[in-house]
Amino acid sequence: MPVHLENQEIVWRQFQINPVWEATLALLKKVIAGIAVAYGRQLSAGLYPKGVVEALILRTWPVHEADQIVSFFTRDLGKLKGIAKSAAKSRRRFGGALEPMTYVLASYAEKPKQELVRLDACEILASPLLDPVDYARAAALAFMAEVLEETLQDRDPQDSVFRLALAVLEQTRMGRIWLPVTYFSLWMVRLMGWMPELGRCTDCGRGFAGGPAYFESQRDGLVCAEHRHPAARAVSPESLMLAARIFREPIAALAAEDWPRNRAADLRRFAVQGLERHLEKRLRSAQALRGMG
Ligand SMILES: [Zn+2]
Repeated sequence: MPVHLENQEIVWRQFQINPVWEATLALLKKVIAGIAVAYGRQLSAGLYPKGVVEALILRTWPVHEADQIVSFFTRDLGKLKGIAKSAAKSRRRFGGALEPMTYVLASYAEKPKQELVRLDACEILASPLLDPVDYARAAALAFMAEVLEETLQDRDPQDSVFRLALAVLEQTRMGRIWLPVTYFSLWMVRLMGWMPELGRCTDCGRGFAGGPAYFESQRDGLVCAEHRHPAARAVSPESLMLAARIFREPIAALAAEDWPRNRAADLRRFAVQGLERHLEKRLRSAQALRGMG
């Protein structure tokens, strides 16, 4: 079945966020922006503009004594990098909020023409650490953070990607990581515009007629048995059908089914290989996942 990449309507429906939650967030942003403005007046003459944004924390690097550089994916402005002063010491402003894939309301300020914003505080909206974490779940969260960090451009808003990430995060529980990882990888390939048509051979244009399709690391797209390269790997007919469902159904609808780690492993490998080929690098966290299945 051909996949229509431009169908934004479907994308919107699949990752819809509860309107009550959206309204609550809007109110919270106003309150925090008020506090931030008062705080900023005292402390930061010359810095502007200030803002409060929804964001997912992607990565941090220590700098200087106790400061941290934070890469965070904001819903309104895209990926930003900021400096969190004294983050290692100030539990009041950042306590626990800078762990990868924490969903926060971030207060920041910026100077014109400076790449780094100043990250003033983060209020946690949802922390992945509130649920139990084992090695597999930590690896899944690290994978999502790394894929977002590597695929997103700075200051390039991607609302669909943001909503996808929230929807998938909610389903990433201990013992239940394989659906979220598969769903996220496939959709990221598609939202980045890298998803080839999955319904037919890229060489001859014929459908797969209920048989497997084949892919290889050096090229996009799937081919039929006749046009497969000797080193190509197969995607089973079941996984091809699953891909079609993933592009049609919200993740919550698929979550009711069993997802042992061997389910759709071929599809996951296909998606991750697509990401790595377009990024022109190996994803470290994908190797950790691969080691598990
Ligand atoms: Zn063919």
